[in-house]
Amino acid sequence: MFCKGCRQEKLRREFPFETLTEECDHAPLHCLRCVTHSVKNASKCPQCSQDVAADNPRYCEFVETLERLFPDSPHLLLETTYDASQETNLTISIVMLGGDCTVLQYHPDMTVRDLKISVGKRLGYLPEKQRLLYKDMELKSCANSRLLTLEDYNVEPFSTLYLIILLYAIPDALNEVVFDLFWGYPPSRCDFLDASVLIYNRSSLQGIVDFSRRSFVGVAHSGDVMDHVKRIGHHTINVKLKDFPSNIDKLFFTLSAWNSPNISSYLNPSLRFFDAKKPNKQLCSDQMEHAAYSQAIIMCSLSKIDGVWNVFSLRTLSAGNAKNYLPLQQTIGGIITQGLC
Ligand SMILES: [Zn+2]
Ligand SMILES: [Zn+2]
Repeated sequence: MFCKGCRQEKLRREFPFETLTEECDHAPLHCLRCVTHSVKNASKCPQCSQDVAADNPRYCEFVETLERLFPDSPHLLLETTYDASQETNLTISIVMLGGDCTVLQYHPDMTVRDLKISVGKRLGYLPEKQRLLYKDMELKSCANSRLLTLEDYNVEPFSTLYLIILLYAIPDALNEVVFDLFWGYPPSRCDFLDASVLIYNRSSLQGIVDFSRRSFVGVAHSGDVMDHVKRIGHHTINVKLKDFPSNIDKLFFTLSAWNSPNISSYLNPSLRFFDAKKPNKQLCSDQMEHAAYSQAIIMCSLSKIDGVWNVFSLRTLSAGNAKNYLPLQQTIGGIITQGLC
C-alpha cells in the first residue's frame, strides 16, 4: 500500500484502519508514522487538517500499534493532559516485584495513559513498556476508541498497583530466540550460578531445563560457558517458540547459587536477549545492580498474552536452587496467582 504522506510503499498493517476523527471525510491514506507525526508536531490530521488533541484515543491507539510493530525504533514521547494543579490528599502506590515503588496523586478521572506517563517520569520506563495490574486486571490505555480512566477499573484511592516492565514483545516472524544469562565471578574464585528455566501451562509446572536436564521441546540449555579471561560465566538458553506444545504459555528464567548461601558475591547477574540468527544485535537486556542476599533471582519471564510472546523483567528474589526447586516454584506460583505475567 502506498502512503500519500511519506510517499513510500508500506505494508497494510502499517496503516490505520480508521481515520483519526469522526469528522475526517476521507479514507486513511497516510501511514501510522505520518499520522502520529502530524498529531505530535502540528496537532492535526495530516490529510484534512482537522484538529486532533494529544489525548485523542485513536492517536493513542496508533502510537501503541506502532510500538508493537517497531519495538526497536525511537519512541514518540507523550505528555500528560491531566491538570496537575488539582491538589488532592488521595494517593495510589505503584510497586514493582523487584522492590522499586512510587506514590502518586490519585484522581478517579485520571486516565490510564496519564498514569503511565507519570509513572514513566518517576521510574524511567516508557508508557508502552508498562504493564499495570490491579486486582488481577491489566489496566489498558484505551478500548473502543475511548481513553480509559482509573474509575473504569474501579481503582480506589490508597490502593496498590503492580508494575511489570515489558522488555520485548516478540514479533510473530521471529521463531528462535536466545536468553543469555551471565554473571561475574566472585572476586577470589571461578564459580557458577545456575540458569534454570521453569516451564508452565497456566499455573502448572510442565518441565524444568537446567545444566543437568538440558532440553525440553523447544528449549535447549548450553551448559557451562566460562570466559576465564573476562571472568564471566554464561548459561544460554535457546528457545524455538513455534516448537512449543500449544499448552505452554509461560517460561521463567532464574539464576541460583549452587554452593553459596546467596548470590551476593556474584557480580551483576544479567540477561541479554537476541534473535538466534543475529547474535550481535541485542533485542533487550536487563541487570541486577545490587548484590542480592538470597539464593536465587527470577530474572524474567516469557509469557504468551493474547497470542503474543512477551519478555517481562521480573528481578524477583527467591529462595531455592537447582538442588531444590520448591521455593522457586512457590515464588513463581505467587507471581502467576496475582496475574502478573
Ligand atoms: Zn507515511
Ligand atoms: Zn482527517
